[in-house]
Amino acid sequence: MTEQGRTDIVLKGIGVSPGINIGRAHLVDGGRLETPAYCYLDSAYVADEVKRFRKAVQDSKDQLQKIKNKLLHDGRGKEHIRIIDAHLLMLEDRMLIDDTIKTIKKEKVNAEWAIKMVMKEIREFFDTIDDEYIRERGSDIDHICDRVLKNLMGKKHEAIADIKEEVIIVAHDLAPADTAQMVKGKVLGFLTDIGGKTSHTAIVARSLEIPAVVGLENITQKVNAGDILIIDGLSGMVIINPSQKVVREYEKKKGQYLDYEKVLHHYRKFPAETLDGRRIRLMGNIEMVEEIPSLLDHGAEGIGLYRTEFLYLNRKDLPTEDEHFKVYKKVVERVSPHPTIIRTLDIGGDKFLSQMELAPEMNPAMGLRAIRFCLKEPDIFKTQLKGILRASVFGNLKIMFPMISGVEELRKAKTIMEEAKEELRNEGVAFNPKIFIGAMIEVPSAAVIADLLAKEVDFFSIGTNDLLQYSLAIDRVNEHVAYLYEPLHPAALRIIKHIVDAAHNANIAVGVCGEMAGEPDYAMILLGLGLDQLSMNALSILKVKKMIRSIKYSEAREIAKAALVFSTAQEVERFIMDAMKKRFPEEYS
Ligand code: PEP
Ligand code: MG
Repeated sequence: MTEQGRTDIVLKGIGVSPGINIGRAHLVDGGRLETPAYCYLDSAYVADEVKRFRKAVQDSKDQLQKIKNKLLHDGRGKEHIRIIDAHLLMLEDRMLIDDTIKTIKKEKVNAEWAIKMVMKEIREFFDTIDDEYIRERGSDIDHICDRVLKNLMGKKHEAIADIKEEVIIVAHDLAPADTAQMVKGKVLGFLTDIGGKTSHTAIVARSLEIPAVVGLENITQKVNAGDILIIDGLSGMVIINPSQKVVREYEKKKGQYLDYEKVLHHYRKFPAETLDGRRIRLMGNIEMVEEIPSLLDHGAEGIGLYRTEFLYLNRKDLPTEDEHFKVYKKVVERVSPHPTIIRTLDIGGDKFLSQMELAPEMNPAMGLRAIRFCLKEPDIFKTQLKGILRASVFGNLKIMFPMISGVEELRKAKTIMEEAKEELRNEGVAFNPKIFIGAMIEVPSAAVIADLLAKEVDFFSIGTNDLLQYSLAIDRVNEHVAYLYEPLHPAALRIIKHIVDAAHNANIAVGVCGEMAGEPDYAMILLGLGLDQLSMNALSILKVKKMIRSIKYSEAREIAKAALVFSTAQEVERFIMDAMKKRFPEEYS
């Protein structure tokens, strides 16, 4: 049912990439693919049905190969090419392909129905996984199956690269093969029914700086091709067929946003330095190499958190030492002379490796995760460490371990690191023997003994996402307790202060790389608490820099000191908001 004729239909989704645009809707695939009908086959037709299925799989491979060749030819999107390669591999997947053929033969059903059944089973498995990031990787299965289904049903898979006019793309979901073809300027934005902050599409949208709103549930049912749409990628607001009055209002807002971006952009050349000369290093967080240009363009002075999990996802095998080395070398060369901090694999528990069977856990967030997993699987860990060490001679590379909970764990990690160095020495391979080692402080026990840990490492990086999760006992993926996730909780502020003081007493640097660092109001407190560096997404860097350049360090210290006296997060929040309003009346009114 469409809502043609009505104006100003407002929908609210998850804004994952900021920016405002007004444009015509272009529906990709006309929304969700219709469910294929069930068809019972006479035994005589089964062999032909298998042949028809195999041809659809081959056609799907040919189409993906064509997209890949075009991307290679254009010299674009190496990271996307890897995802397309992963999709090509999935089309060889025994579970998907062989099981579909088995289902056709055993159940005597049509290929469309068979693949749908197999896909449902695989999908159900993905849906049981708590981790949002991994769960969204399940959508890769959907993309692959949709492509095969379209070929079975004789539908054309539309290439986004073929779109001629400037449009806002509306889709149930977008496959990485689709987003990889997007070009800023032609694609004014995109809107999808499903998805979250960490879906591929969201990550790519941010790195291409295309406004995007995902998780709109049923936008494909509400929009007709050619409808006028307004997209506000910051608030997550979408307006279908806006009235002239609303269009004018949003044109004005868009102008203001572009002016604001221009003003912010002007900050990229300047250091993140307070009015009284305290210099902070603002760095970027990445999951993929492709995010680097945007980070540098926003004035990032290095990478404060490279989440290397991405290297392990969407594939059947584990990355080799050489693969690790090549990717890290590329990153460090691009980012040098600024530093790059590579975080070793933070997976296990609620995140899983498709390459390994892991036992289900009752409390996965407190289970075999991150450094615990790596210490249990030293070969996987050492392979990554050797790759990092080899890349360390090509620039300013540092390494940090996630989820450290005590000194012994840290020492074990360092021992394996020494073994990795020894192996490289024996192989005659160059590396930086003095590579800096850091510990992420994100477990309360580590925070409490920060003074002891500080003696063992070169720097600390506070992972506030997990530190808050564990300190306040709030599952970070559970929407029912999300209201308790308060970065300004007095306990959180005291813990952070304790960690910073311990680091500085031991003369080591300390940064924050959790989401808290990217919010100017929280960053003001972090500045006042004495943090040396803050790491965040590209778009936050300039906003935080503007805040830093507008305040004295002595004032920020006073504000942080005063904030530590309050009893509740609400009181701290009110106090900080007042301080921000005073300094930035146009943004905090
Ligand atoms: C954190 O916990 O704050 C952090 C930066 O790591 P992640 O979000 O990847 O767990
Ligand atoms: Mg963490």
